[in-house]
Amino acid sequence: MAEFNVQHSLAALGPTFSLPCQPTPVKAPEWLAFNLSLAEALGLPEQYRASDAGLQLFSGNMLASWCQPVAQAYAGHQFAHYVPRLGDGRALLLAEIISCSGQRFDLQLKGAGPTPFSRGGDGRSPIGPVIREYLVSEAMHALGVPTTRALAAVSSGERVYRDETLPGAIITRVAKSHIRIGTFQYVAALGDEARLTEFTDYVITRHYPQCASQNQPYLELLRSVITAQASTVAHWMSLGFIHGVMNTDNMTITGETIDYGPCAFMEAFDENTVFSAIDRRGRYAYRNQPPVALWNLTRFAETLLPLLHAEQSEAITLASSALELFNQQYQTAYLEKMTAKLGIQQSTPDDAQLISSLLALMQQDKVDFTLFFRQLSQPSADNAGKLFSDQNKWRDWCRSWQSRIASQEQNAEERALAMQQMNPALIPRNHLVQQAITQVSEHGDLSLFNQLKQAWLTPFETEGAHAAFSQPATEQERVQRTFCGT
Ligand code: AMP
Ligand code: MG
Repeated sequence: MAEFNVQHSLAALGPTFSLPCQPTPVKAPEWLAFNLSLAEALGLPEQYRASDAGLQLFSGNMLASWCQPVAQAYAGHQFAHYVPRLGDGRALLLAEIISCSGQRFDLQLKGAGPTPFSRGGDGRSPIGPVIREYLVSEAMHALGVPTTRALAAVSSGERVYRDETLPGAIITRVAKSHIRIGTFQYVAALGDEARLTEFTDYVITRHYPQCASQNQPYLELLRSVITAQASTVAHWMSLGFIHGVMNTDNMTITGETIDYGPCAFMEAFDENTVFSAIDRRGRYAYRNQPPVALWNLTRFAETLLPLLHAEQSEAITLASSALELFNQQYQTAYLEKMTAKLGIQQSTPDDAQLISSLLALMQQDKVDFTLFFRQLSQPSADNAGKLFSDQNKWRDWCRSWQSRIASQEQNAEERALAMQQMNPALIPRNHLVQQAITQVSEHGDLSLFNQLKQAWLTPFETEGAHAAFSQPATEQERVQRTFCGT
């Protein structure tokens, strides 16, 4: 076996950026899940894989000698309200693992007890949010969306106190890093340019090394983060994913989706869909996700101003021109994803009209987003058409779509197969996530959780054994609200 390669580069930057902190042991840890294929890709030593040593490690009861736990500092805009000191209030970075492919990944416990950033919170997590994060982040990965991963989940054998008392759990998260826009906000607010430079150089070396050799590395970093986020958010939109709490502390520098709190996938298409119980004004509604991403990136750009140019007005000009790229990059990424869903091989700007007229029709009839595109991925579009009440309008749209794809050198079967690779049969439907949470949380029953975990590994496969999971929620099953669970 290759040697297990672990480093602590963020901790080595010193107490400005993170503070040492030990996890608080729990009474009676038990396995909820362990992600063996991820463990293998990371090169995690076998002794920690689904073993007793693993259980002790991933519950925070007994860390391995190669761990050096720290809580990271960050600030953030929460619902546009700036909070200067947030930080890891219930998370601990254990180590950075250099994976089998040479990539660096953070290993982080979430729910492992209070830290210097807990602000009166208990540092714990109920089992429900752990189940949601495990299921949805792994499903997002299988759907091809950049995301943090779930390596392990363990129940703690302890209760946590919220509005009611709930069983507690700890999730182990893996990410390229946990550096967020909020981390930059925290560092910039120190008002110490040397520190900001040190940290920004660290991030460039770690995540965007190609920027270092450019004329203006910091401007290039800004552009790179804009590009990464534009692409990730376009991917979300193409799948109907609603993050739910796009605060600046929940947006990574790498473009990985992070913090699966009140997130959910939209079923009936409605651009105004909001799931999060705390998002009363719909700031993070489905259709607001691209403009909110730009708003967040603007906060990121502000933190970099001192590095972009000695003259502030010049720096603002540079930052603004970089931010102008967002809309264009987002539109391009979105068009690419949506045209691929429609089986269009080479998108053109005119296709935007075909997409928006389809979405208007879907909005009118509140058509199930995932089911529609999957039905359209059959050689015949008949079943897709049945989802609309206004058959005339549907036929009009279908005619323009068919004439658009008619010129392609593909027969209907070939196109259908290509479309099935873009339009999942299975997404984490919210009622299923909720049912799994209830079964685990109230009855300690892992069976549905395990089935869903398995089914969502292959979301593009023809349903087969998992056909039941492809159907939208019935009226009785529908779950309209989600909770952060903090
Ligand atoms: P989140 O909603 O997970 O993005 O968390 C927002 C902030 O609240 C972060 O600084 C968290 O560390 C902190 N936080 C959330 N839940 C807890 C908790 N149970 N105890 C301490 N801090 C928490
Ligand atoms: Mg967060």
